Amino acid sequence: MEYLSTRDKALRRSAAQAITMGLSRDGGLFTPVSFPSLSALEVETLCGMPYRKRAAYVMGKFLEEFRPEELNLFAKNAYGPDRFDHPDVAPLHKMDKRTWCLELWHGPTSAFKDMALQMLPQLLSASLRLTGEKKTACILAATSGDTGKAAMEGFADVDQTKILVFYPENGVSEIQKLQMVTQEGANVGVCAVKGNFDDAQSGVKGIFSDEALRERLEERGYFLSSANSINWGRILPQVVYYISAYCDLLNAKEIKLGQPVNFCVPTGNFGNILACYNAKRMGLPVGKLICASNRNDVLTDFIRTGVYDRNRAFHTTMSPSMDILISSNLERLLFDLSGGNDELVREYMGQLAETGRYEITPGMKKRLQEVFYGGFCGEEETRSTIEMLYQYGYLIDTHTAVAAKVLTDYRHETGDKTPAIFVSTASPYKFGDSVLGAIGETPAEDSLERIAQMERVTGVGAPARLAGLKGKDIRFHDVTEKELMEEKVLEFLR
Ligand SMILES: *Cc1c(COP(=O)(O)O)cnc(C)c1O
Repeated sequence: MEYLSTRDKALRRSAAQAITMGLSRDGGLFTPVSFPSLSALEVETLCGMPYRKRAAYVMGKFLEEFRPEELNLFAKNAYGPDRFDHPDVAPLHKMDKRTWCLELWHGPTSAFKDMALQMLPQLLSASLRLTGEKKTACILAATSGDTGKAAMEGFADVDQTKILVFYPENGVSEIQKLQMVTQEGANVGVCAVKGNFDDAQSGVKGIFSDEALRERLEERGYFLSSANSINWGRILPQVVYYISAYCDLLNAKEIKLGQPVNFCVPTGNFGNILACYNAKRMGLPVGKLICASNRNDVLTDFIRTGVYDRNRAFHTTMSPSMDILISSNLERLLFDLSGGNDELVREYMGQLAETGRYEITPGMKKRLQEVFYGGFCGEEETRSTIEMLYQYGYLIDTHTAVAAKVLTDYRHETGDKTPAIFVSTASPYKFGDSVLGAIGETPAEDSLERIAQMERVTGVGAPARLAGLKGKDIRFHDVTEKELMEEKVLEFLR
């Protein structure tokens, strides 16, 4: 399988090259030349496999240069019991007779980013071997809280790699910050940015496209790569759990083979929901893709009107991992919806950079709306959804609540009774302050104290690694102006 740049179809790379580079040099994102198909027979076969085998099989369809034994080993390492605290890795929780919640936070950092970031370092190491790359890969990541920690956890002390994470100083939860600044590993670095996530992400993108910096780093034996979902190696492992969830419903005799299932995904950078779209493109019977946003509802408006307009107020919400106005992965969808029109994608991305706005063609809008529904959930509804589901016996985090609410809205609005799965992207323990408040408790002052408090109040056990943050040394104190991020990179790679 070859990969091309969304901004230049003629630019083709192997999977190993695409994963090594992260972002194409023309600023485009690598996307597969075509989508391999998944037959009904294959879905049946996958039903008989554990998660890690499903992962190796599905990924193998996109990674022909990697040996199957190798992919099996990677999946075994990534999703083993020492890393994930649930034997099913990504279990489904049944809510009612046609609604399930897909729990993606059983990994080492308690957010869904682990699903991909336990795999990506292994794919990258193998890609360095395959491409004969001798320089050290420096992973630069901008994080809205969860990517940074999950990426460091995955890359800590991995040979021939270093990783530097930038996070918005006041844009992450206390637990997320604590998770990052206590990260161990000789090859990791963390730095706060004075600004919001879009500032951090734009800063990282700017560093990637700086040719002079690239040359200086090359002289020092480094090249830059990405662990953000602009890297195809992040999206691919995420395709797996949509297929796996479908298999689990089949195994539980909840659906029949071929019957469509809707997915509702809490969305920020459009990575997770794009993975679901890719699964649908492979032939998985996905019905509607429901895109759930918080008050930063730029995607809701886009899906409803065909106009993407980031010229609006930025809101800091209780679901900070979705406080994003520039959803990078939308570019991959635009490329596909336009029938592979790289010129048009370039034009839209140019307009986005210059004016913050673009409008897609009527044909693209029609295709968009056939597949997607967009909705958003405000702060008060997020709170009340957590409370309602807690009364009903299920504790969820703020991001998951956004998805649960938008799924309900979708059903009310359309009357669609298709079985549906909403995606749970983080453990409620990562956002203890908001979750405790929502269920009527006064949250303790100290974020670690809140973990114990939540266990006491809810009777739901905390993930062991979050409880283990207590007493860990703080290793990183750096803060930078957003204009000076490049200096930090040069310092880190001295
Ligand atoms: C990253 C993240 C999201 C958003 O995922 P995207 O792939 O950026 O759309 C949602 N919820 C949580 C908890 C996250 O960490």
